[in-house]
Amino acid sequence: MTKKNNKLNWKNQKRIKKKIKSEIKNSEKKPATLQTLEASWREFEAKQEQKEKIRQEKQKQIEIENQRQEKIESSEKNHVKLKPIRFNKRDFCFLCKQPPEDDFELIKHHVSYFPEKVAYVHFDCHMKIHDPENPIKDLIQFKEGDSRRFYEIQNE
Ligand SMILES: [Zn+2]
Ligand SMILES: [Zn+2]
Repeated sequence: MTKKNNKLNWKNQKRIKKKIKSEIKNSEKKPATLQTLEASWREFEAKQEQKEKIRQEKQKQIEIENQRQEKIESSEKNHVKLKPIRFNKRDFCFLCKQPPEDDFELIKHHVSYFPEKVAYVHFDCHMKIHDPENPIKDLIQFKEGDSRRFYEIQNE
């Protein structure tokens, strides 16, 4: 072997040693990175689990609310099918107890829709019931939207 070759060989070995050193250094770094990654992954998974739990809880609430709504709707439908409860007949006004005026029929006032309760009254008496300033609250036992829903169900 020539001197030149020897020198080259020595240089090569030095280079390889350096490479190994750097590889060891890198492999020492990796576990630390992996540990961090694993820790943050566990954290991520825990968060995901929590999110899933919240999602399921929300879903449950929605289902309960839907069931409650369905119950109300089916009970409303049943109410619509039933005959209305009439407080009086068309011969005397429920409010003033007077007969209808000539050529006029008493009008039907809904006291409530679910169940359907009706009273027959004069036009003027009906105005009194619905007086915006001073309504006769005992004769208005329905909530806003009941009337719309009632006729919607009836027309189904
Ligand atoms: Zn009347
Ligand atoms: Zn009315």
